[in-house]
Amino acid sequence: MERKDVQENYKWKISDVFESDEKWEEAFAALEGRIDFDKYRGTLNTVDGLLAYFKAEEALTVDTLRVYLYAFMKHDEDVRETKYNAYIARVMSFFTRLEEATAFSTPELTALPDETLDGFISDPRLHDYDYMLSRIKAQKTHILSEKEERILAQTGEPMSCAGDVFEMLDNAELDLPEIEHQGEKVKLSHGLYSVLINGADREKRKEAYELYYSAYRKIINTLATTYFGNVKKDMFYCKVRGYDSCLSMALFEEDVDRCVYDNLVKVVGEHTPAMHRYIALRKKLMGLDEMYMYDLYPSLVEDADLKLTYEEAYELVLKGLAPLGEEYNALLRRGRDERWIDVCETTGKRSGAYSIGIYGNHPFVLLNYQKTTHDVFTIAHEMGHSIHSHFSNKNQPFVKSDYKIFVAEVASTVNEVLLLKYLLHTTEDKKLRKYLLNYFLDMVRTTLFRQTQFAEFEEKAHAMAEGGEPLNKDNLSALYKQLNEKYYGPAVVHDDNISIEWARIPHFYRSFYVYKYATGITAAICIADRILAEGETAVKDYFKFLSGGCSTDPVSLLKLAGADLTKEETFLSAMREFEDALEEFEKA
Ligand SMILES: [Zn+2]
Repeated sequence: MERKDVQENYKWKISDVFESDEKWEEAFAALEGRIDFDKYRGTLNTVDGLLAYFKAEEALTVDTLRVYLYAFMKHDEDVRETKYNAYIARVMSFFTRLEEATAFSTPELTALPDETLDGFISDPRLHDYDYMLSRIKAQKTHILSEKEERILAQTGEPMSCAGDVFEMLDNAELDLPEIEHQGEKVKLSHGLYSVLINGADREKRKEAYELYYSAYRKIINTLATTYFGNVKKDMFYCKVRGYDSCLSMALFEEDVDRCVYDNLVKVVGEHTPAMHRYIALRKKLMGLDEMYMYDLYPSLVEDADLKLTYEEAYELVLKGLAPLGEEYNALLRRGRDERWIDVCETTGKRSGAYSIGIYGNHPFVLLNYQKTTHDVFTIAHEMGHSIHSHFSNKNQPFVKSDYKIFVAEVASTVNEVLLLKYLLHTTEDKKLRKYLLNYFLDMVRTTLFRQTQFAEFEEKAHAMAEGGEPLNKDNLSALYKQLNEKYYGPAVVHDDNISIEWARIPHFYRSFYVYKYATGITAAICIADRILAEGETAVKDYFKFLSGGCSTDPVSLLKLAGADLTKEETFLSAMREFEDALEEFEKA
C-alpha cells in the first residue's frame, strides 16, 4: 500500500507538531539566535543566577526537541525520502552545539561547596531541580581536580575504541558464510539468522546456527580482546573515580541500590529448575531425542492468530486494559481518535513499532499493523509507553519528565500482562490458550531469565578482570558455558557454539545495561498482579508511578506502584507466575 492511499484516520496527526515543512524551517531558524549561554558563566552560584540559566537552557531544549520530533517522524513515514534525513542531521548538529555551549554548567556546579548545593536543594524556588541537584552533589565524591577532569574528558574517544572495533567487525567485516534461502544462495546476515533460527525448518536452523557461529569462531581471539578492552575501560574509570567495583559504578550512575541487582541474580538463579522444566517440556513437545540451542526459538504453538481488523484489535485492547479504570481507558480512546497512531504498513515506512513521547507534545505511536495476535499485544505495549509519557509530561516539569531506561519497559509490559490475563480468562479456544501461555513463558524466558544470565556473565567477567585475571577466549567461554548449563539445564546440548555466544552480544559493550530489562519485567508482573487483585487502590498507586517521570530514583518510583525491588519477595512473585503458567502449559 502507498501512503497516499491510507485513510486519514489511520495516519498520525503530524500537523499537531508542525503544519508544514515551511513552519518547521521557520522554527528551526529561530533556534539559532538563542544558543548564547556565555553570559551565564560564573553566575550559577546564586539561586537567581541558576534559575535564569536553567530556564533559558530548558526552553531552548524543549523547542529543539520539537523540531527533532517532526524530522524524526517525517523520516519514518518514508525512509527513502532523503529530505528528512537532512532535517535530522541539522537538528543533531544543533544538539551538539547546544551541548558544547552548556558544557560549563556541570563542572561549575560540582565545584560549589556542599553547603551551597544543600541550600539550592532545599530552596522552594529550585524545587523542580532538587533531584537533579542532589545527584550532582552525590557525584562530587567521584569528581577529580579541574586539571584531572580536563584530561579525563579527553579519554572518551580512545576509550570507546574496543566497542567501535566490535561494531565494525559485527556489522561490516564479519565473514558470514553463504546459505541457501528460498532457492537462492545468499550471504547470511543478522536479520536472516534471526528469521531462520525462529523458523520451523529444523535442518535450516541447524545450518544457520553452525554457519553463524563459525564466523565468530574465526575471529574469537580478536573478539575476546575487544571484550577485555571494554572491561579494562570500565576498570579504568572505576579506579580513577574511586568506586569499589565496575558494577558499583554502573549502579551509582543509575541511582540504583546494589541489593536490587543481587536480589535479581539470586532469586532468578534459584529458580532455574523451573526453566529446566520448561526446556525439557519443549524437547518433549518437539519430539526430539537431542535438543540444541537452535531448537529454543520456534514457537511451540503455530498459527493461533486472532485475525482481527485494527478496529477489533483496539476494542480488544480496551477490554483487556479495563482493570486500569475509566481515566486510562479514555486516554486509550483519545490516542486512537485524536490520531496519535500511524497504523498501516506502507511502502518505504520504517518497520517495527515504537512510541515516542516528547515533552510539550502528545505522544505518537508507529505501528505496522498485521492481523496477528502478536500485533494486538504490540498495540497494548506501545500505548503503555505513550500513556506513561502522557502522565509524566503532564504532571512533571520538563527536567523531571523523561522517564529513564530502568523503568521504561514497565508500563508497556504491565499492559501486555493485563491483556494476556484477560484473554486467558475469556477464551475457550484451546489452541489460543496454549499460544498465550507459550507467549508468556517465552517472554519471561527471554526478558527475565536470559537477561539475568547476561547480567551474571557481565558481573563475573568484570570480577575476574578486577581480580587480576586477564580475560581470553578460554576463560570467557568456560564461564559462559557454565552459566548456560545453569540457566537451561540438562535437556539441551551445551555445545562449543553456544559457549562463544558472549562474543556476539552487542549489549555487552554497554556494561550492566541488560539487567534493567529483567528488573523491568519483574516489576511489571508484580504491578499487574496487584492491579488485578486490589483494583482501585492499586490503580491509584500505579498512576503515581506513571506520573513520576524521573522525579526521583527509579527504585523509589516503582515502590510507589507497589513493586519493591529491594525485597526478594517481588522477584519471587514473578518466578511464581512463571511456574504457574508452566504448570498450566504442561496440562494444556
Ligand atoms: Zn517497549
